[in-house]
Amino acid sequence: MSDCLFCQIVAGSIPSQNVYDDADVMAFLDIRPINPGHTLVIPKRHAENMLVSSDEDLVKVMGVIKKITPAILRAVGAEAFNLGCNTGRAAGQVVFHTHIHIMPRLATDGYRLWHPREDVPSDLNGIAEKIRKEIEKT
Ligand code: AMP
Ligand code: ZN
Repeated sequence: MSDCLFCQIVAGSIPSQNVYDDADVMAFLDIRPINPGHTLVIPKRHAENMLVSSDEDLVKVMGVIKKITPAILRAVGAEAFNLGCNTGRAAGQVVFHTHIHIMPRLATDGYRLWHPREDVPSDLNGIAEKIRKEIEKT
């Protein structure tokens, strides 16, 4: 898609710091990293988000993540990492081309993951039942 930022990166019309490139998958550094080595991994085929990418593309993307993450961690001296896949505006997605963030982490970086909220209804039985029913319909 010509108006998609990441398609333009795939086409080479917008510069990027690539760390991995094959026929189907690309990985490049995020321009606003949370830590050094923050990398975005994308299927080259355009899809708005991971739910509409093909299973094949997602498997390839995960294979590349598995391959390159240890190298990223070694290169920047990180100890651990988080994967992130913001899907939908409410989840913070701003680029609507499937991508997974590899975010290197240090014990000292001070980031905190989300915390459970006291005010969220916690009827786990009821919610699990509703989800199972919805999955049955698919
Ligand atoms: P998301 O919120 O998951 O849609 O994240 C999109 C990410 O793309 C953000 O972390 C941006 O910093 C990153 N980004 C935006 N433009 C570029 C670019 N030209 N090159 C590399 N990363 C980019
Ligand atoms: Zn695209």
